[in-house]
Amino acid sequence: CGIVGFTGTREASPILLEGLRRLEYRGYDSAGLVTGTGNELHVRKKAGRLAELAKHLGTHPAPGCHGISHTRWATHGGATDRNSHPHLNARNDIAVVHNGVIENYAALKHQLQEKGVAFRSDTDTEVLAHLISHYYHGDLTAAVRQALALVKGTYGIAVMAKAEPGVIVGARLGSPLVIGVGDDGTYLASDANALAGFADKVVYLTDRQLCTLNETDWEIRDQDLAPVSVS
Ligand code: GLU
Repeated sequence: CGIVGFTGTREASPILLEGLRRLEYRGYDSAGLVTGTGNELHVRKKAGRLAELAKHLGTHPAPGCHGISHTRWATHGGATDRNSHPHLNARNDIAVVHNGVIENYAALKHQLQEKGVAFRSDTDTEVLAHLISHYYHGDLTAAVRQALALVKGTYGIAVMAKAEPGVIVGARLGSPLVIGVGDDGTYLASDANALAGFADKVVYLTDRQLCTLNETDWEIRDQDLAPVSVS
């Protein structure tokens, strides 16, 4: 339902929580985030209100200056901690948050299970984490593009890989995403309201575009990975 990402020079988790708070009015049943430090991903997720996640972060902080977060409005799988986003691949080194519905998730899940992939949630979203992982050979944007080529449905996604600290990849089809540029870093959100006061400039993605963000820069590409110039 709501997505907020940040990569920059400040602690990510307070920014992510504040951004998600501004999207609360849209409704949700669970919330979660993942941040990165060096060679570690820190995943925190809880069914219930954002206050539950904030409380959990009080005792289990998520350090790091880059992260992605999500408020979930469940479509596939109940509102549980386990089904909350982010979802990770088996090696726990790629994390995905997703708005929308993967319509062909059952077929994709079956194919992945035949290859021996063990699923840890009942969501449609989790197939994305495993598919991206399957195509990942050091270039997260390329892997996201290959995975999405197999998907039918709607998505606004944000993705992080442990091996590419500071990088956030986004993509959209039928679900909004906006890049925000601020003094302290680069933002990604499903709704520009989340970025008010944080970002000086916002750039909207259009359907089938991907974006790659880091602490100081961002790039938008089309579905063939050709750079899109934005004025
Ligand atoms: N279909 C996904 C799920 O049920 C995402 C729902 C949403 O947009 O929040 O987990």
